[in-house]
Amino acid sequence: MALDEYRRKRSFTKTSEPRGRKVKSATGRVFVVQHHRASHEHHDFRLELDGVLKSWAVPKLVSTTPGVRRLAVQVEDHPLAYATFTGRIPEGQYGAGTVSIYDHGTWEPEEDPHDGLTSGKLAFRLTGRKLKGNWVLVRTARGRGQSEKPQWLLIKRKPGA
Ligand code: MN
Repeated sequence: MALDEYRRKRSFTKTSEPRGRKVKSATGRVFVVQHHRASHEHHDFRLELDGVLKSWAVPKLVSTTPGVRRLAVQVEDHPLAYATFTGRIPEGQYGAGTVSIYDHGTWEPEEDPHDGLTSGKLAFRLTGRKLKGNWVLVRTARGRGQSEKPQWLLIKRKPGA
């Protein structure tokens, strides 16, 4: 199940993060970027697909400068309800720290996103308040199992590129 890893990592009696379930939004194409001040400050970049949020941790934060490559480590799928989560994750819990929303809106893949996730190249347009235009995620390492997660680069493209 898509949310098993998400749930296994969290104690929902201790964190106010949503347990969530697989559910589609009205548009089916929500994106959110959360600012997560945890042991290491980072952005969490999330794209709705098939009732969950595909998720990447971006240590150096999402860049809006065309051509700048930002490491994006793919993490476990999150429930759609996570897109509106803000607040504090208690000490001792997974991801302890604070979460705020940097931006949200809708995204539109340029090709079949399932193919993109499989092939390792996902091109899309974001329509947010801060993030607008074309980005691409390019996988550079597949990752093997729990300790080694898939690594991608998140790159803003020039208009029309
Ligand atoms: Mn995070």
